Amino acid sequence: MNRLTGRVALVTGGARGIGEAVVRAFADEGASVMITDVLDEAGRALQEETGTATRFCVADVTSESAWASAVAETERTFGPVSLLVNNAGIVEFGSIEETDPAVFRRVLDINLFGPWLGMRAVAPSMRRAGDGVILNVSSTAGLMGYASLGAYVASKWGLRGLTKAAALDLASDNIRVCSIHPGPISTPMTAGMDDSITVSQPIPRFGTPQEVARMAVFLAADATYSTGSEFVIDGGATTGSMILNSEQD
Ligand code: NAP
Repeated sequence: MNRLTGRVALVTGGARGIGEAVVRAFADEGASVMITDVLDEAGRALQEETGTATRFCVADVTSESAWASAVAETERTFGPVSLLVNNAGIVEFGSIEETDPAVFRRVLDINLFGPWLGMRAVAPSMRRAGDGVILNVSSTAGLMGYASLGAYVASKWGLRGLTKAAALDLASDNIRVCSIHPGPISTPMTAGMDDSITVSQPIPRFGTPQEVARMAVFLAADATYSTGSEFVIDGGATTGSMILNSEQD
């Protein structure tokens, strides 16, 4: 408790899933949290439930003006932003040939251009705060390839690289920038997927949004010697293959 007291956070895609868990965890640790999302009803409901520690505003991460309004409203309500979690994202399935160019662009727009706009928008506010932490929610799809996920993989590798460039650009302002790489996590995004995708993992289950949120709290509060770094939370999915061992049994 109270590991984030005095901090002002802005969490995108904060109305549900991983973003909602981060909002709750940050508020539990004493932060003031601006929830942003395109889901108006769910965002308002979460704000009402979590009380005075949070506010909600509708903001599409692909809109520069929405970012300006969200940061201004956060400053007016709570003060300068010191924590940003670029969490909003979408997934679209399709092979290279099946994917419509407009869909490819849309995935990059939300998953990569959105976080870039967000970092641009909050950097002056973080300078006013005196320091800051930016957490970019990438994926194991930012560490390896997946079939039929080309747009998503490209966006998440891009976000991993952008994280390192931003860490270098913002270091002199005492702003740390790290990427988080979840494997399969139980959220509305993965609602249509079954447990079979986790069976070859050392920890063969879906992760919970709360497990990701606990890592976000650690990175925001305690990881004071980490920037430009990748933090993997995937049940061991990217560790390697267990198939050879199984065959020897
Ligand atoms: P989720 O349940 O779908 O929540 C994402 C939220 O972001 C939704 O409320 C969504 O609203 C919102 N959003 C979508 N487009 C937006 C936009 N343009 N502007 C603002 N908000 C927008 O997804 P999640 O599973 O919690 O995922 C959160 C992040 O973790 C994503 O970046 C995702 O790629 C990443 N991730 C998830 C997993 C996983 O297994 N769940 C694994 C690795 C990485 P709509 O409903 O309108 O789209």
